[in-house]
Amino acid sequence: MTSTEQRPVWAEHAAQALAEAGYRRGGARRAILELLDEQSCALSAVEIQEALSRRNRDVSRSSVYRVMEELEEIGLLQRVEIGQGMVRYEPVRSGPGHHHHLVCDRCGRLQPFTDDGLERAIRRLSDRVPLHVSEHEIVIHGACETCAAA
Ligand SMILES: [Zn+2]
Ligand SMILES: [Zn+2]
Repeated sequence: MTSTEQRPVWAEHAAQALAEAGYRRGGARRAILELLDEQSCALSAVEIQEALSRRNRDVSRSSVYRVMEELEEIGLLQRVEIGQGMVRYEPVRSGPGHHHHLVCDRCGRLQPFTDDGLERAIRRLSDRVPLHVSEHEIVIHGACETCAAA
């Protein structure tokens, strides 16, 4: 490992949190955590299964869903609904990598975006609302450029 290589911080944190929540540490679970941590945006359960299989790790679809449920339960995974009952998943991050989503309701395309002004507005809002704010997620729906032009 070189000094510039990023350590899988979220994956390690998640593995520990799962263990503390009473879930058994397992190879499949660890492989799923590391895969999710490497992504810049959300993956579907099918994509997770396929990516693991390309790494010679065969994990059943039901195991993928089970781990997604466990991670959601302890608040470490965000579920992004992209319409027609389709769902994608990504690690909840508050520091580097934190972003929001644009969803095309016609084709299901998911695009990440960041906006400093939006983050500042949410911080200001957090001071005013009767909630101790820990996380936030913004999903903006519409038609992507391809679908809007069609
Ligand atoms: Zn994302
Ligand atoms: Zn579209």
